[in-house]
Amino acid sequence: MHPLAVPRVSTCTDLCRAMGWLPDEVFRTAPMAELADVLRFHDPDYVAALRRAEATQSVAEADRDRFRIGAEGNPVYREIYRRPMTSAGGVMLACRLTLDGGVVHCPGGGTHHGRPARASGFCYLNDPVLGILTWLEGGLDNVVYLDIDAHHGDGVQDAFHDDRRVLTISVHEEGRWPYTGRADDRAGGEARNLPVPRGFNDSEMRWLLHQAILPLIGERRPQAIFLQCGADALEEDPLARLSLSNNAHFEVVRALDGLAPRLVVTGGGGYNPYTVGRCWAGVWATLNRIPIPPRTTPAAEAVLRGLTYNRAAGRNPPEHWFTTIQDQPREGPVRDAIKRVAEVTLLERLDA
Ligand SMILES: [Zn+2]
Repeated sequence: MHPLAVPRVSTCTDLCRAMGWLPDEVFRTAPMAELADVLRFHDPDYVAALRRAEATQSVAEADRDRFRIGAEGNPVYREIYRRPMTSAGGVMLACRLTLDGGVVHCPGGGTHHGRPARASGFCYLNDPVLGILTWLEGGLDNVVYLDIDAHHGDGVQDAFHDDRRVLTISVHEEGRWPYTGRADDRAGGEARNLPVPRGFNDSEMRWLLHQAILPLIGERRPQAIFLQCGADALEEDPLARLSLSNNAHFEVVRALDGLAPRLVVTGGGGYNPYTVGRCWAGVWATLNRIPIPPRTTPAAEAVLRGLTYNRAAGRNPPEHWFTTIQDQPREGPVRDAIKRVAEVTLLERLDA
């Protein structure tokens, strides 16, 4: 099973409903994006190639070579056009809905590796870029993009390279694909990168939050914050080697509450359906300031017990994957590498 086939968004919404956290009146179904809106960032030939791939369920060699569709871990799948167009539509709707202020959670978004004319890292369109463009076209000129996915948010950073309106901040595992986002990479000045070592724990995320991320945001006083809240930095994720509990994600979300009049939170990576679903459901509760009870409701437990996971860890899932939303905290020592990266992040200039 390809990582993309893991049921992530449906698990999150099913869990939220089963916990009694998602009344119908606050739920909106993501619409497919308008083609013209997508072409603000993406190449028309590339988008046409995605559409062709969906229609034919195959990819011509020329499209594969030029657009990396059906290559490098970007498989042709049944909804290779409609699915990315729908997450882009959802994220752009989220940004439009918040133009006058507000908070929207769009767990289907977060495809931060997408390039104007190329698929990358299971990302076909770049919905964070399209959402932020919606804000900019709505008149905003001071946006912070914060990315806590285990992988560097390279596509978003490069899209806003040198654009003073958007500061991108990415926390990610060092030495992991796409191998960009070193601490000294500032993309022309408007990016901060916080690469972290294997085993990154909750205490270390808290350190970065308070010693680097919140000071940066406080200094900038953004009109809007876009949080890419990938769940692949969790300990149980099969694709990365970081060791967060979902308390770290909730703490980041809580810390952002009220720092800007607009907040859009998306999903991102995350390939263990139990931990992704629990994490993003807990993010929704946190955004709504709903206390997370120590035990799942019977309906939520049934949602979790109904999942399957074709990896070794899925053969013998621990009981708390069914009976809790919130993990046990995974605190630990704050290593020197973390303190160093926080210091570098706040340096005015790197050559100072
Ligand atoms: Zn990722």
